[in-house]
Amino acid sequence: MKQDNCIFCKIANGEVPANTLYEDDRFRVILDLGPATRGHALIIPKDHYKDLFELPEETAGDVMKLAKRMIMKMREKFKCEGFNLVQNNGDLAGQTVFHFHLHLIPRYGADGQKIGWKPQEVTPEELAEVRSQFVD
Ligand code: 5GP
Ligand code: ZN
Repeated sequence: MKQDNCIFCKIANGEVPANTLYEDDRFRVILDLGPATRGHALIIPKDHYKDLFELPEETAGDVMKLAKRMIMKMREKFKCEGFNLVQNNGDLAGQTVFHFHLHLIPRYGADGQKIGWKPQEVTPEELAEVRSQFVD
């Protein structure tokens, strides 16, 4: 399940080199080429899935288990104080490589990065309307 011309298929399967922190038969964890902070890594499945919508549920669970193991060891080795896990789906959401990946971003005091959003004002009625659209 590889896609021609997909850079992460090539990296995950060892055809293109990357700085690998971890590898098993299903996943590779590499250092991001344009890191937000020191040690910024990506969990990449070896099989090609475009995004979380396409990723099988069981694999999604395994990605999070691997993320847990990775950040425990990264915290110890890199001496970071926190982590952001970021996962973009779709170009509108900032996805630039269309092969599922989960960002593991170590956070250090005064690292100068800001990962977040601008909170919007919302009324209780608007929240209830959103809920009813989902739950109905
Ligand atoms: P996205 O914006 O799709 O969530 O994240 C894509 C990430 O992949 C970016 O942080 C970018 O720096 C990283 N990236 C893109 N191409 C390569 C590459 O060839 N090698 C590595 N190691 N990282 C890459
Ligand atoms: Zn791919």
